[in-house]
Amino acid sequence: MSRDSGAAVTFEPPLEGEPYLLTPGPLTTSASVKRAMLRDWGSWDGDFRAMTAELRRRLLAIAGDRDGTYDCVPMQGSGSFSVEAMLGSFLPREGKALVLVNGAYGQRIAQTLDVLGRAYSVIDKGDYLPPRGPEVAAALAADPALSHVVLVHCETSSGILNPVAEIAQVVASKGRKLLIDSMSAFGALPLDVGEIPYAAMVSSANKCIEGVPGFGFVVARKEELQGAQGRCHSLSLDLHAQWAYLEKTGQWRYTPPTHVVAAFLQALQEHTAEGGVTGRGARYADNRDVLVAGMRALGFETLLQDGWLSPIIVTFFNPAHPKFDFQTFYDLLKARGFIIYPGKLTVVDSFRIGCIGRMDAAVMHRLVAAVTEALKAMGVEDATPPAAAMNERAKLVA
Ligand SMILES: *Cc1c(COP(=O)(O)O)cnc(C)c1O
Repeated sequence: MSRDSGAAVTFEPPLEGEPYLLTPGPLTTSASVKRAMLRDWGSWDGDFRAMTAELRRRLLAIAGDRDGTYDCVPMQGSGSFSVEAMLGSFLPREGKALVLVNGAYGQRIAQTLDVLGRAYSVIDKGDYLPPRGPEVAAALAADPALSHVVLVHCETSSGILNPVAEIAQVVASKGRKLLIDSMSAFGALPLDVGEIPYAAMVSSANKCIEGVPGFGFVVARKEELQGAQGRCHSLSLDLHAQWAYLEKTGQWRYTPPTHVVAAFLQALQEHTAEGGVTGRGARYADNRDVLVAGMRALGFETLLQDGWLSPIIVTFFNPAHPKFDFQTFYDLLKARGFIIYPGKLTVVDSFRIGCIGRMDAAVMHRLVAAVTEALKAMGVEDATPPAAAMNERAKLVA
């Protein structure tokens, strides 16, 4: 089942005693990315300004901008800061957004718009069903006030890969603008502006580029950046102001996370060395395939059917076996060097395992071995989920 991604990359284990983070960011980073943080930089100095310019240039190349239609604006803070900056800067005060929700990050977008006082409506598909083109088309046709559609690319709370091309096509055909939260997908899954034209998209340092946390970044059409002047609700999250200052001075407007930027540049070099989006995506897909095959052999089952599984993070149902206890399972895996992630579903108990970060299929094989040992230690002979979970799963038709 596993493919060979073919990239000549070596994967050093984490530092002595450090567990693998099978979580969707912060995630396991390479030793070289960590080492890149050992030096201090003056944020105004030419060396650091050159680093910022390189960061923007490399991210635009990953985004597929070939003719300077788009620009890249980094923003201090975690990913949600950049989502808020994108919404506050690009959604006009008199605009209205259609938010496509199927999990916690879609809900956070709606919550952000509440705080910003921007008008919106929601298509809420529950915990894990994907938004589809026809229902988005119908909503846009029914409400001419809708100016923007906001989509989460990979909804990290279930791991579902939302149909971004299908939605983008509908949004364009209805003459609306698309804003994408590609936080957990950018860098590993294709999102090329030549194929999926968007007004703006956002991601962050500590996801598929495999940097450490500390900033996010927005890739946006320059005309959107120009049009955003004076629009943002916030002084520090104003993307137009950050962009204008970067263009004028080469510097971030307020103190940048210098060490994080240095680490990120190292991470970008490693991303290129691995073959860019294609190479990275192939390794993550290998990770997922080894994980899913190994877990299914133990009786576990995934929330999502194969067609919707992302190579980012996978949700598994808790086993029905009465001796299974998530906290014990978590502790047993941690003792074996793996940190997993609790589930976020409201209907059935589940947990999640991330496929992203500095690890390969060999690590996933070791993880499956650790899961096997953990089940044995708990006295769980079979990890099959309860019937109710499988009934949920049957609702999702590819
Ligand atoms: C990680 C993530 C975010 C941002 O989360 P922060 O904790 O603010 O970094 C937003 N959307 C998605 C889909 C994510 O995976």
